[in-house]
Amino acid sequence: MHEMGIALNILDIVKQEMDSYGAEKLISICLVVGEFTAIAHHSLTFCLEIITKDTPFEGVRLEIEQIPLIGRCINCKNEFAIEGNRFICTKCSSKAIETISGRELFIKEIEID
Ligand SMILES: [Zn+2]
Repeated sequence: MHEMGIALNILDIVKQEMDSYGAEKLISICLVVGEFTAIAHHSLTFCLEIITKDTPFEGVRLEIEQIPLIGRCINCKNEFAIEGNRFICTKCSSKAIETISGRELFIKEIEID
């Protein structure tokens, strides 16, 4: 379950942010998660609940914005949604595909008090 490592990382970053602002209460975290990261949202939420339990961060709300996996064909420049890991151009059937979104994983914003 790689979500646990990710949840710990997120919390580390958030703690540093809060320290730099002298904030004490964490209300919510908004994450941007690309589809291709294969992060299970419910697992991530669950992990965050576990590691914040009985800490000042307990009850923090996690919002996740999912970014779809979009590919671009190097051959014909066609842009399309990649479904089921089918990295094949929907127009010319080329397999030379670069991903233009879907690998994101970052904290968009945190709400603090
Ligand atoms: Zn193509």
